[in-house]
Formats: sequence, C-alpha cells, structure tokens
Amino acid sequence: MTEITRDSCQDWDAGDPLAPLREEFELPEDIIYLDGNSLGPLPKGVARRLERLISHEWGRDLIKSWNQHDWISLPRRVGAKIAALIGAHGDEVVAADSTSINLFKLVAGALKMKPERSVILTEHDNFPTDIYILEGLCDLLGGAIELRFAAADEITAAIDNDVAVVVLTHVNYKTGAIHDMEGITRAAHDGGALMLWDLCHTAGAMAVDIGAAKVDLAVGCGYKFLNGGPGAPAYLYVARSLQEELRQPLTGWLGHAAPFAFDSQYRPAPGIDRNVCGTPTILSLAALDVSLDIFARADMAAVRQKSRQLGDLFVSLIDGVDAGHGLTLACPRDSGERGSQVSLRHPEGYAIMQALIDQGVIGDFRAPDILRFGLTPLYLRFVDIWDAAAILDDIMTERSWDRPEYHDRKAVT
Ligand SMILES: *Cc1c(COP(=O)(O)O)cnc(C)c1O
Repeated sequence: MTEITRDSCQDWDAGDPLAPLREEFELPEDIIYLDGNSLGPLPKGVARRLERLISHEWGRDLIKSWNQHDWISLPRRVGAKIAALIGAHGDEVVAADSTSINLFKLVAGALKMKPERSVILTEHDNFPTDIYILEGLCDLLGGAIELRFAAADEITAAIDNDVAVVVLTHVNYKTGAIHDMEGITRAAHDGGALMLWDLCHTAGAMAVDIGAAKVDLAVGCGYKFLNGGPGAPAYLYVARSLQEELRQPLTGWLGHAAPFAFDSQYRPAPGIDRNVCGTPTILSLAALDVSLDIFARADMAAVRQKSRQLGDLFVSLIDGVDAGHGLTLACPRDSGERGSQVSLRHPEGYAIMQALIDQGVIGDFRAPDILRFGLTPLYLRFVDIWDAAAILDDIMTERSWDRPEYHDRKAVT
C-alpha cells in the first residue's frame, strides 16, 4: 500500500460537503457498495412515498388519482428533474420505457429525418444492447440501412455523407473512458448527421451540458447513478428544435395529441410527449422521482469533483496492491478522461470479484476480464475506498480468490 493512511481518508470525509447525503440511503453496515453504476441503492424516502401512493392513491382514490394526484404528468415531471442534471430544458426530457426501447424509438425517428442517408454509425465497444437494438432496427428496415462501426478514436473520420445518425455511449461501461461530447457532436453536425448520446453512465455522475453541446437526441436509464430502483423507467431527450419534426414509430395512444379523444387517427402530441408510447409505470416512476430529489441538494460539479477524487484515491492505492499480482488498470489514469468508475483487468477477474463480494466489497465483473468498481459520490466515503483497497490487497496477497466456489459462474455477473 502507498503512504496514504486511513486517517487521512477520514479527514477528507470530515471535510466533504456531500457527506450528509449518505444519510438519504439505506446502506447495509457490513457492505462497501461499489456497484451503484449497475443498481443504485435504496433511497430512504422511497418506502414512505410508495406506501402512501399504494394506500392512499391507488388504494383509496383509485382511478381518480390520474387527475387528483397528477399521475398523468409524472413522466414529464420526472423528466424535468433529469433534464436539470444534464443541461437540458425541462420540456426536452421525458421518463418512459427502457433505455433499449427509447434508443429504438429515437434512432428510427432520426433515420426518417434523413431519408437521403443510409448509415447508422456506432462503435464496437458500445454497450451490447445498443448494438443489438441498432441491428434489430436495420433488420426491420430490410437492408436499406447499414450499421457501420468505427473505433473510438476514428468516429469523426468515419462520418461521411451517408451517415444519418451517430450513436455513442458517452462513458464506456467497461473502461470508463469518456468521449468528447462536444467535439463529436460538432463533427456529426458538420457532416450533416444527427447525434444521439447514451447517458447511462453519465447522468447523475458527470457534469454535462447537452444543451451547450447542441446534442440532438439522448437516452439513459434510471436505475444506475440515478438510484431509481431495479428496472426503473429510463428517459429520452429530444432537443426542442427537433421535437416537431421527429416522428418515432411506436405511436401509442399516450403519445397522441389528445389521448382521451379516442380518435381513430393518430396525431402526434406536440413537444416531447409524442415520444411516450403507453401508460406510464406509476409505482416505479414515483420511486425514481423520490430519488431524483436527492440530487436537488447536490451540485453536479461537486459530485464530479468528488468522483474524480475517489477514483484517484483508488488508483493510487491499487498501484500499491498491484505489485506482482497481475492487476492492470483498464480505465484512464487521468481522472479528467475517466467517468465515475475504476476498472481493473485480471485473467482471474471473475474469481477475484467473487472473493471481494464475499468479504463485503461489492463491485461487478464484465467479461472477459474486467473488475468494475462504481464510484458514487452521494453515499461513498473516502474511507470506504481505503477499506476496499485494503481488502483487495489482502485477497491478492493471500490468493484467497483461488477457491473452487469463487470460480463458479452465476447468471448475473
Ligand atoms: C445499462 C445500460 C443500458 C441498459 O439498457 P436497458 O434497456 O435499461 O436494459 C443501455 N445502454 C448502456 C450504455 C448501459 O450502460
């Protein structure tokens, strides 16, 4: 280990302006949770809100609640809270469906806006669901649209007159590497293409301004850094300037201009609402709504700064652990180029992660060899990072990861 002491970490915690927010979450005493980039923990306010929603609103007021408790506007209200975290206007974001479905809707809509162009440009290292959805969309369109792949550093060079839309994830889920949002968006526009960013590992972790970057479209999920709960609703963003032109294909009744006219002819709602498909999932939207209120007390610049400090601390400590154990850094060393995670590589990464989890340090494993540690400044302390690194050091030194039970692969890694 390096000379950073546990005491100095405690000092940093004592001076941390975000420290009080840890109180907002249910966190088991015996666990260091470094997986909030996969499933955020439970905010304490959620149980109260859901209990009331279930007993009073659903239980007593029943269907009147759509008006009386304004359930109908919840997707928009939640969307506006997310908008505030990413530099969008409140009327540019709506919470709905899953990231996968939102990606399908917006890319299909983008292609219709560029009928003379026939290419979707993405990268091989994109999150698999993004690639699968784009492949499925191309397949549905019967070969008229090509899915083109470029390496991360060759994206801008691959934008030619055929590219209709560039689809990238801002922070890489495995390595934490950050794309240059402004530069790539500008290059897409210069090439006449639309730009869509997947913000799954961005919103709630990074300070971004998608309005200033002139981003056209974006999607992201509610259950990672936004702590909305398992399977929380996702969100989508459409820049104001495109809202009247973009027509997404899942034209459900709640995206209609007047759903309760029960018109047999579809007419898209004005603004962002046309991108909603069916009935919103009120229980899970309410949980996400509660969780987002915690962010109202946290300045995103401070969140980002602490995330960088937590990552730098972990990387420094790992440099000490690494001696001879074969762990290598799989994320950028420079915190300015790294999202809110630290990733390590080791051929026995799966077994090492199982040993860590067994000792209360919860991260996750991403095949084939990545150990991933999510850094979530709302509830992690510097001392947690110190303790996690010490436990990792112990596991590597003792080779305690090399037990048969740690090599047994489970369904979810
Ligand atoms: C987590 C994640 C998703 C998840 O999509 P779902 O439809 O919510 O399952 C999509 N894209 C990226 C980049 C992710 O990290």
